[in-house]
Order: sequence, then structure tokens, then C-alpha cells
Amino acid sequence: AAKRARLGTSVYEPGLDEHSAAQLTVISDLRRAIDHGELVLHYQPKADARTGAVCGAEVLCRWQHPRLGLLGPDRFIPAAEETGLIEPLTRYVLDHALAQCSTWHAGGWDVPVSVNVGAQCLHDTTFPDQVADVLERHGRPPGVLTLEITESAIIADPHRASAVLTRLRELGVRLSIDDFGTGYSSIAYLRTMPVHEMKIDRSFTTNMRTDPSSGAITRSLLGLAHNLELEVVAEGVEDEETWRVLAALGCDIVQGYGLSRPLPADAFAEWLRDRAL
Ligand code: C2E
Ligand code: CA
Ligand code: CA
Ligand code: CA
Repeated sequence: AAKRARLGTSVYEPGLDEHSAAQLTVISDLRRAIDHGELVLHYQPKADARTGAVCGAEVLCRWQHPRLGLLGPDRFIPAAEETGLIEPLTRYVLDHALAQCSTWHAGGWDVPVSVNVGAQCLHDTTFPDQVADVLERHGRPPGVLTLEITESAIIADPHRASAVLTRLRELGVRLSIDDFGTGYSSIAYLRTMPVHEMKIDRSFTTNMRTDPSSGAITRSLLGLAHNLELEVVAEGVEDEETWRVLAALGCDIVQGYGLSRPLPADAFAEWLRDRAL
């Protein structure tokens, strides 16, 4: 604030205008981006908390915008959700992630992938068939795919979401509740939702060493998930000490900068190769 006062607000205003103009561009360009393959997938490894063995990767979407450069998902996923473009975007991500899986499989690596799925897909009764189709096209078994869904997506229409999730589970796809603990309280839904995995949000895990309440919440969520026989992934694990504490608490899987940042497919393969040596 001191710096801002010294420089005067006029210095910042053009930046703000630029930002909102950019935001408009983002929305109008997104459709073209999907059609022209401007979306890029990065892969962030997940590892067994006890052994450190890599057990899969989360697929995270970026946009290589021709003028604005590489945009993170926070710049365009909310707009995609609002404009209905999230459905073609999700199809794009599923298609490219499974194509990548298939390439890795041919090279002798079976890397299970987790794909983030927005609310709208859970309310689309044709979504399970789309998923079955993309798996078949790329010749991969359903067990290689985990779909990460958020609590809020379920709560928007629990009845319909439950029907879609049940169908996906019958297909043999794994289901994961993402960002658990950050949405509206939905512990009651956990009981009826056919999911396999819970991801503890990084707002709890990242701070658990310094903030006692984050530590307490993490421990409670681990207990809750294990009592429901769910596998637990802790995200946002940034250092070895947090990893060690989580492993001691019985957490199943870790993910975070402490293992690796999300990487482009080639760099991910190289990372895997180096790690295996
Ligand atoms: P998310 O699903 O909770 O993904 C985890 C986010 O945390 C990613 O941010 C990841 O880069 C970041 N992260 C991972 N490890 C660490 C760590 O140790 N410390 C910190 N501080 N951050 C870490 P990213 O890639 O910017 O993605 C943000 C969100 O955008 C995702 O949150 C997800 O909700 C959404 N998103 C990304 N890709 C897709 C997609 O293909 N489809 C949909 N529907 N949403 C996506
Ligand atoms: Ca996720
Ligand atoms: Ca998450
Ligand atoms: Ca998150």
C-alpha cells in the first residue's frame, strides 16, 4: 500500500484495465483455443506416502495463448464453467490425457491419470458414455482413469450427480472428491456418494506444521476418510517434514511441490526416468 501511494494509483490503473480487457479476450477466445489445440496439459506426480513409489499423475490444464502467453487454469476455468465451454474443455482434456497414457503405455509405463471434472459434467447424463468412449478409443482400461470432482459440484444437484457417479463407478473408473473440506459441509453426502478417494485440500496440508488447527483438521479428515474406507491423497505437500508427518498419520498418497511441480508430458517422462534410475 505504501508503494502504491508513493507511485500514485494512476500507475496501476492501466494494468487493471488491461486485465479486464484480457479477461474478455479470454472468454471469446476459449472456444477457438479448444478447437485449435491451444490447451496444454501438465502432469503432476502422486506418490505412495510410505514407499515414495509414483502411483499416478494429476492432469492440470494450461492455455498457451497466442498473445497473452501461458495462462493458468484460474484464468479460464471459471469462465469456461460460466459459459458452458467446460464440457468441450473436459472432453479435450480427457482425450489428450488418454492419448498420452496410451503413448506411455506403449513405451512400457503405466501411469494412471487423474482428470478434474467440472460440475456441469456431473449433471450431464451422457457424460459416462463419453468417458467410456474415450477410454475405448485410446485402448486403455477404465482403471487407469480417476475423475476428480469437487464437493460443490455434487451439492448443486446431489440426485443427478449421484446417478452419473454411480454409472461412472460401474464403468470401472475411479472417483475422487477434490478439495475436501473447503466447500459446504457435505459429510452427509460422503456416505451415499460412490467415491474411492478423498483429496485433502492443500489449504490444510501446506500449513499443518505451523498451524495447529490445520493439523487437527487434516488428522480428522484422515480418520473420517479411512473409516469410510476411502483412500486419502494429501495435496500441497511442499516439504519432506510434512510428507513424513502425513505418512506417520497413515495418509496413503502425497502430491505437491515436495515431490514435483506439474510438468509438461516430456519433462514428466524424463522426471520418471531419472527417478527410476
Ligand atoms: P486443484 O484440482 O486443486 O489442483 C491442484 C492445484 O494446486 C494445481 O494448481 C497445482 O499446480 C497446485 N499445486 C500442486 N502442488 C502444490 C504445492 O505443493 N503447493 C502449492 N501452493 N500448490 C500446489 P493449478 O494447476 O493452477 O490448477 C488450479 C485449479 O484449476 C485446479 O485445482 C483445478 O480445480 C482447476 N483445473 C486445472 N485443470 C483443470 C481441468 O482440466 N479441468 C477442470 N475442470 N479444472 C481444472
Ligand atoms: Ca484436482
Ligand atoms: Ca485439489
Ligand atoms: Ca484446490
